[in-house]
Amino acid sequence: MNNPTSLAETLLGLDGFQILEVHETPDELIINIETRSTVVGCPACGVRAQAKDRMRVDIRDLPCFGRPARLVWMKRRWRCGDSDCEAKTWTETTDHVPPRGLLTNRCGIEATRQVGELARPVAGVAKELGVCWWTVMDAVKLHGTPLVDDPGRVGKVTALGIDETSFLKATKEHPTLYATGLVDLNHRIMIDMVEGNSAASLRSWCKNADPKWLGEIAVVATDLAESYRAGLSPYLDHAIRVADPFHVTQVANRALDKVRRRVQNETLGHRGRKSDPLFRIRRLLLSGAERLSEPGNERLLLGLRIGDPDNEVHGAWLAKESVRDIYLTDDPMQAEVLLDKAIIGCLEDKVPEVRSLGRTLKRWRNEILNHHITGASNGPTEGINLCVKKVKRCGHGFKSFENYRLRVLLHTGGVSWPKRPSPPRIRTRNPHLNA
Ligand SMILES: [Zn+2]
Repeated sequence: MNNPTSLAETLLGLDGFQILEVHETPDELIINIETRSTVVGCPACGVRAQAKDRMRVDIRDLPCFGRPARLVWMKRRWRCGDSDCEAKTWTETTDHVPPRGLLTNRCGIEATRQVGELARPVAGVAKELGVCWWTVMDAVKLHGTPLVDDPGRVGKVTALGIDETSFLKATKEHPTLYATGLVDLNHRIMIDMVEGNSAASLRSWCKNADPKWLGEIAVVATDLAESYRAGLSPYLDHAIRVADPFHVTQVANRALDKVRRRVQNETLGHRGRKSDPLFRIRRLLLSGAERLSEPGNERLLLGLRIGDPDNEVHGAWLAKESVRDIYLTDDPMQAEVLLDKAIIGCLEDKVPEVRSLGRTLKRWRNEILNHHITGASNGPTEGINLCVKKVKRCGHGFKSFENYRLRVLLHTGGVSWPKRPSPPRIRTRNPHLNA
């Protein structure tokens, strides 16, 4: 192979195409190409077609030897040889470029990988390629959707985690919008993302899922949201429901914070300021008693002595610690004793926020204890949520939930990406001496 044209075509690597001309501008390499096909049958009747004319189509490909590459395809238009045929005229197509596409498939797949697997901003990839945002997003949809919809992506799931993440911040037009993530807790992948955090949205997702697949789910971990508990019914009634430990302690923390802010307001007449005793210990209050250092402990006690005349914050702090105590043991029997102690203590408390905490714990008693029985928690979900946040950050906010879902699933959904060649390593010119 020493003919310059065939050498260039080997470099191009698009079979079925021949190169007509290559020239270079300061900004890009321009490669004029056409297909080799000369004999074509009509798609409708099979009669041999006549060449009609050509139209120029500009296509962006992956960069070539460090230079942006533009393919100029002189696309042929054909006319049916039979003048009575309904097909009349058509333009040729190729497997290398999607219909009406601006990117070659190999370029579109690479753009999808950059945006999906690496969570890069669409705008950045678009700028690098020299196309507009929509071109890249269309390629991500075209090549990414089959990867996400691949039935082999999600296998058998025995432990399901459900957690909400915010999707759009509140604006004048709408409150904060949430999305519900469904996570395979064993394989640590995002199974799907549902718009909203209501019972109805979760239920309708379960309704569309394969009943046999749902039947294999033995454990479902959620936070203490009634909407999720309701949304799991009836399709996941057979699974053991677990209240996620992190969210259980979070509920106790929130009750404590509420009491602190109310007492602060009642005693001082304003919201927390930097020098207020309770405001100064707000973080110490929330950290676990066993994590406090000696000076930290003293500051906490001092803050309570000054800022908490009726011991309301102190009571809420004890309630919070009693909830944390449930997780000091792995033994289900001990946990039951500790939880019941916490529930009774809270329900008998004089502080209304603590009594409300007690009612919540009582409502979720079985789910809280199921953690000790099954060992399941939403821990893996938190790791995935970090990846979700990465997607959210790089998108600088999403307008379309569908695009958001696609990009989250491409990044965290355990997608099997098309294989790329793994080239043999070229050894360094100065091998390390063994001596
Ligand atoms: Zn025809």
